[in-house]
Amino acid sequence: MRPFTYERATDPGTAATAVLDGTDAMFLAGGTNLVDLMKLGVARPATLVDVTGLPYDRIEHRADGSVLIGSMVRNSDLSGDRGIRERFPSLSQAVLAGASGQLRSMATTGGNLLQRTRCPYFQDVTKPCNKREPGTGCSAIGGDHRDLGVIGTSDACVATNPSDMAVAMAALDAVVHIRLAGGEERAVPLSRFYLLPGDTPDRETVLEPGDLITGIELPPPPEGAAMLYRKIRDRWSYAFAVVSVAAVVATEADGSLREVRLALGAVAPVPWRARQAEGMLTGHRPTRALLLAAAEAEFAAARPLPRNEFKIGLAGDLIAASVRDLTEPAGPARSTGSTGPTGSAGFGGSTGNGNDFTWEERG
Ligand SMILES: Cc1cc2nc3c(=O)[nH]c(=O)nc-3n(C[C@H](O)[C@H](O)[C@H](O)COP(=O)(O)OP(=O)(O)OC[C@H]3O[C@@H](n4cnc5c(N)ncnc54)[C@H](O)[C@@H]3O)c2cc1C
Repeated sequence: MRPFTYERATDPGTAATAVLDGTDAMFLAGGTNLVDLMKLGVARPATLVDVTGLPYDRIEHRADGSVLIGSMVRNSDLSGDRGIRERFPSLSQAVLAGASGQLRSMATTGGNLLQRTRCPYFQDVTKPCNKREPGTGCSAIGGDHRDLGVIGTSDACVATNPSDMAVAMAALDAVVHIRLAGGEERAVPLSRFYLLPGDTPDRETVLEPGDLITGIELPPPPEGAAMLYRKIRDRWSYAFAVVSVAAVVATEADGSLREVRLALGAVAPVPWRARQAEGMLTGHRPTRALLLAAAEAEFAAARPLPRNEFKIGLAGDLIAASVRDLTEPAGPARSTGSTGPTGSAGFGGSTGNGNDFTWEERG
């Protein structure tokens, strides 16, 4: 690991200036991804500007049912927040499904959204990788790509976005609040925050140098919506997703879907909002045949590689099982749809996805 200097920012303006002025300076939040990448030689900042002291560490529940989550809120505080558990249970589940308790106590909301891919070739500086070093080629396409993307990928890159939290937020129509380097504020829907790789896989988001995420806004969920996050992974204790889904569903009295939002994780370079499938399902009763047809339509444009084609069928089954569970009368993780931090999520203590963590997870 090469030497670096460390600065602690006391206000957003000086943090941005320090990153813009410094040679190869980067923001440091929890450090659980960035410091690992520095040890691997993938990230080589000369200066780290610690932003965890900035005043973005609150979760603000608003009267209209929306919430603003500060970018410095720790993952453990987010997953344990009562209002999040009750009105946005899929988000709490997604956070709890990621990493370990120790990591979640350090990791922040902004840092989680900006964590880098777990593609083994991106992390191995001895191998060509267009994302790490543009123009060198993609080692994964002809190599170990079992865990990598099947849709939205390009000839230059097949890496996936590893964040569980981002998938849940995608299905919740999250909006990313950014303080631009010059001091202006900008709000970008999560659906437009991440960029597909195309020919420039090194560029992953709309952020420019010095731009700081200040918070994530979640609008109120649809009236009466039920939601969940479900993750398939190789190892129970903690592991990145093989495929995951976040589903938000509101039904009519006749069982038809008034609104359905589906986002998929670990299949694409970005949290993948399955809009094609959503369009086919909205207004209909979610039979298994229709759910699988919708998933098939979603993946019509997929470009799987020999060892990750299985993800397409797995994603279809996951979508079908998740919507089925949410539309059955006693389905799990039903959001109360209320606007205050009261009531019960009705699935006390269990994440509904196999994790036995307690909700109150602090430190
Ligand atoms: C063993 C292990 C297992 C893991 N398993 C999972 C998993 O299953 N699921 C999952 O989703 N994640 C998993 N993670 C990843 C973990 O969630 C991330 O490392 C963490 O969320 C990153 O947050 P951080 O605050 O530590 O970010 P940092 O490492 O501090 O920063 C990450 C990046 O974001 C930038 N940054 C940070 N904050 C801001 C901001 N506010 N504005 C602009 N830029 C910013 C930094 O400059 C850096 O580039 C795992 C990590 C480890 C080490």
